[in-house]
Amino acid sequence: MSPSIEKLLIIQDRDRRALQLDQELRRIPVERAEVDARAKAATSRLEELKLKAKQVESERKELENQVGTKREQINKWRGQQVLTKKNEEYQALTHEIEGAEKEIFRIEDKELDLMDRAEKLAAEIKKEQQVLAEISAIAQRQKDTLGQREGAIKAELETLKADRGALCKDVDESVMSRYERIMRHRKDSAVVPVQHGICGGCHLQIPPQVMHQAKSSEELVTCDQCGRILYWSREFEPAPQGAVH
Ligand SMILES: [Zn+2]
Repeated sequence: MSPSIEKLLIIQDRDRRALQLDQELRRIPVERAEVDARAKAATSRLEELKLKAKQVESERKELENQVGTKREQINKWRGQQVLTKKNEEYQALTHEIEGAEKEIFRIEDKELDLMDRAEKLAAEIKKEQQVLAEISAIAQRQKDTLGQREGAIKAELETLKADRGALCKDVDESVMSRYERIMRHRKDSAVVPVQHGICGGCHLQIPPQVMHQAKSSEELVTCDQCGRILYWSREFEPAPQGAVH
């Protein structure tokens, strides 16, 4: 294997690691947003319940006021009853009072229903508060982990970048730019082994002539199909006839 291939393979190894880290790094803000969205959903559920509880309470207060007004009215009518001398008027007032009292019963029934609802909502709020506390704690832990992961990835990328700089100095500039061009285009690999007569990149058959060049030439040989740089690896060479293992 030519020395430049050996060096390129090391660089490629680092580059692939850097690409993988880069993808991971780009996923971190997405994951962070997902964590936030979960916590936000729990917060809005709680807010919604609190709002409902508030509405129920104000409805109940409104009914309480209605009862108060009706009681005042009844007292007023009772006062008038004491003063009146006309039986007809007295009877009419009794009728009004009875009507108002019935109305009060009806309103108080509604009030009881609302109190029942308020109680259920209070229990739901309590439960949702616990859920929110749990979700928030988990979210914080997840965000801490993401932050640590982000820091570790950035540090490793820095190291890879520095290492790469040093490694590239040893490789011929034209070879390096060729490698980089293929890597940019192919994304996964630029230098691939010839595996049993097949290109390790595009997996297509390599003509015997090219195969021979890859095996013996010090020059860089590329795959006609995908343009990747080829190298001959003993690992994939057929075992010689009669070889003893
Ligand atoms: Zn190929």
